Amino acid sequence: MQTIHRELRKMLFCLIEGIKQWEKDFTKVPDKLYKGHMLFIKHKAMADSNIPNNLFDLIKTLKKPSYKWGIPQLDCLFSSEAALIEPGYGLTIEADDFMEAYQSLDEADQSVMRKILVLCRVQQLDKEYRFIRTFLSKSENAVIDSFSLNRHLHFHLENSELKELVFQCYEELPESIDNYKECPHCGWTLQFRNGKWSCNKENVCRFIESFEDVANFQYQESEKIYRMTSGIQRYILLPGIQEINYANRLEKQGYKVETYPEVDMYDIRVETQRDIIDLDIKDYRSASILSDYFNQLPINQLEKYHANSFIIIPSYRLKISPAFIDLVNSKLDKNVKEYIRIFSENQMMKRLKEEK
Ligand SMILES: [Zn+2]
Repeated sequence: MQTIHRELRKMLFCLIEGIKQWEKDFTKVPDKLYKGHMLFIKHKAMADSNIPNNLFDLIKTLKKPSYKWGIPQLDCLFSSEAALIEPGYGLTIEADDFMEAYQSLDEADQSVMRKILVLCRVQQLDKEYRFIRTFLSKSENAVIDSFSLNRHLHFHLENSELKELVFQCYEELPESIDNYKECPHCGWTLQFRNGKWSCNKENVCRFIESFEDVANFQYQESEKIYRMTSGIQRYILLPGIQEINYANRLEKQGYKVETYPEVDMYDIRVETQRDIIDLDIKDYRSASILSDYFNQLPINQLEKYHANSFIIIPSYRLKISPAFIDLVNSKLDKNVKEYIRIFSENQMMKRLKEEK
């Protein structure tokens, strides 16, 4: 079973990466897409004879929820209700989440955040790393004029390579500022789609703040305005807002709190009278993707989750899907369960109080 799972992860990885490359240049089929297609055929052939033997049929299949693909074991590692491609949008949120879960493990990952992390670890820039993560976790920095961005970075970061990498977390606004509104939750650019304002792909912000009266940005058309890239908004800013809020909540309760200790070994470290407790906040839409993320961690990475470390699921996630924690737990492998303990924000608060 382990080998099949490994191959299916590889298949999803190749398909998603291949589609990404293909979107940029439709004139040639990327190697990755070909490889993903071949793996798809192999596993489909094991299940039944209805095989998508050309790209057209493959894409048609990938637009359907994954439980309809006819590869039953996929259920363990990908959301069965989710497709890989959504017509009109491109890759689905689950496809993005899957890649994000993978990339954090991939030593060859070339993402900007990875480069920042590696540089800070090698040069032991603990303070700088904390500044960058905190800066990218503030809604007021989601959209920013170039003057302020420069000023902040020059003031807090001496290392020019690091400064350049933070600039890469931003892009110039693709359209005129007048085409956007300001997200009341994360501060990023809302766009008008299908008759309503929405914030990036998943649009979870609307579950957290009301979108009834969204405001314009207060910038002049003539100013040079930047926003965080879509990936930074989704995988750094949104979880970052949760992390910082939770850290603040803990501090208000009188705990000594450190964010991103040991250059991001954990998200939050809490010191109680008796213990040091480490927390990682995980914000995924699909329980299967999160549980599989843990299931495929090598043992040396699972070991970072010591007896006093916990996974926290943000409250709003549980509001959207109350059974989320039970679902993840039910899909964890037996040996993984020894390391991974999952709590809601409130359960963790309660536990800490009992320790006091
Ligand atoms: Zn938002």
